[in-house]
Amino acid sequence: MSERIFIGVAWPYANGSLHLGQIAGAYLPPDIFARYHRTKGNEVVMVSGSDKHGTPTTIKAEQEGKNPEEIAEYYQKEFLDCWQKLGISFDLYTTTGTENHAEVAQDIFLKLLEKDYLYKDTVSQAYCTKCQRFLPDRYIEGICPHCHSPNARGDQCEACGKPLDAPELIEARCRLCGTPPEYRDSEQFFLRLPVFRDRLLDWVKQQTHWRLNVLNFTKRFLEEGLIDRAITRDIEWGVPVPVEGFENKRIYVWFEAVIGYLSATKEWAKLQGKPEKWRDFWEKDKGAHSYYFIGKDNIVFHTIIWPAMLMGYSDDLNLPYNVPANEFLTIEGRKLSTSQNWAVWLPDYLSRYDPDPLRYLLSINMPETSDTDFSWRKFIRRNNDELVATYGNLVHRVLTFTYRNFDGRVPQAGELDRQSQALLKKAEDTLTTMDALIYGCHFREAIRTAMSLAQETNRYLDEKSPWKAIKENRQDAADSLYVALSVISQLKTMLYPFLPFSSQKLHEYLGFEGKVEDYGWKLQDLPPGQKLLEPKPLFVKLDRTLAEEEASRLGHAHYD
Ligand SMILES: [Zn+2]
Ligand SMILES: [Zn+2]
Repeated sequence: MSERIFIGVAWPYANGSLHLGQIAGAYLPPDIFARYHRTKGNEVVMVSGSDKHGTPTTIKAEQEGKNPEEIAEYYQKEFLDCWQKLGISFDLYTTTGTENHAEVAQDIFLKLLEKDYLYKDTVSQAYCTKCQRFLPDRYIEGICPHCHSPNARGDQCEACGKPLDAPELIEARCRLCGTPPEYRDSEQFFLRLPVFRDRLLDWVKQQTHWRLNVLNFTKRFLEEGLIDRAITRDIEWGVPVPVEGFENKRIYVWFEAVIGYLSATKEWAKLQGKPEKWRDFWEKDKGAHSYYFIGKDNIVFHTIIWPAMLMGYSDDLNLPYNVPANEFLTIEGRKLSTSQNWAVWLPDYLSRYDPDPLRYLLSINMPETSDTDFSWRKFIRRNNDELVATYGNLVHRVLTFTYRNFDGRVPQAGELDRQSQALLKKAEDTLTTMDALIYGCHFREAIRTAMSLAQETNRYLDEKSPWKAIKENRQDAADSLYVALSVISQLKTMLYPFLPFSSQKLHEYLGFEGKVEDYGWKLQDLPPGQKLLEPKPLFVKLDRTLAEEEASRLGHAHYD
């Protein structure tokens, strides 16, 4: 029976280009997952969008003397272009700047208010006397009260991952001018998070299928206790607070952005011409499972705050089924830092290289359970030694040899020997193993399994050596080539979620029509006599000296 899968993907701030840390952490994994489920014939909706309202966007606008709308529009275009080139197959990639999103966010706000989960209170809010303005949390920096990291922001400490309220910071200062902020009274709305604590804890304890890091982090957080949190601010940029007397305030971004998952699904449904279709993916009785793909710095918002908001809003909507948060990607052995330009920017990468080699490296080196490192040397080595030498050459030598010697068609096999049957069985088993691995979000292990099948097929060919056999016994060569082609035909299916561009090419070289996805996650029957397409190499070998050249760009001024 087909399943319904909702895939929510972290909303990037529209304030700067995407980098490989984000791709490895939150964007490639959901795409692998979505492509796999679509191939299985499951109903998938994968949504995300640019967070236009985060203060990082207003900070960037101020730095560049532009308005936030211009900045957000610029990056929205760039992001869409990147998704297309890298093959991140969103069903909808929108923004939080739509009317639809504002409506859904305000509806949730008002429903929570009506149910008394929100209340008004006077807070003292940071005000910079030099800049003459209220300072949003991200405009304040200081020492983290928990881990004493020196550069914690007023909303969260990046070093220890704890969310913060600006007044908790030690030696707080205005990010724009360095002046210690003053606190002035202002009336804001608060979310009563503690009333959800017991329900959340009961729910979280049942999520034994979550990754341990996510489960433990969430439990610990809940056990330490929750506090009421302000969800409105004195800012001009954002979704207006739909309450009289609060016209000049905005719903604060951490509360509003997560609502994007629901609003984007509604927008997607409208665009499909089936405005009620969102219910299939959100209402409990429709049986969908929701997955949220994020980096580890976002765990709290997806395992505590968003579930609490959903619990308060309605009893009928799905809570997250799984939140497979990834750890971080370091770059050349150092923590990634966008401000120091210690990052590999995606548009930059895509201007020089193909998408699949990056997808390959980030998959086989995915920071699923611990941080992993990206280095250009590793990138080139894995491209040359694994993608080209193990997989690409296997495909290319089998296809070209068959194409030239068997009239451009899949040869007819005779009775297969034990070794050949064993390899075909292994391909079948690998498909089953990978099915379970990807279903459980173990992407790194899954692609390793596929690559070991490719290795084994190379060994098989070395032994069978059809290039020699063909001179003595044409049928022997036909048999081993048929077996190898069959395995390759399975490889293009199992590697499709990871390497969609080369899988599609391979699909066509093998003489199939349409898209890989249309053929399902199952053994691909390769009809003898099927006409092959003249093959070209799937991957390009890269010059090893590029590694040094690429690495030397790190840490210098950003190209834009
Ligand atoms: Zn900290
Ligand atoms: Zn200031």
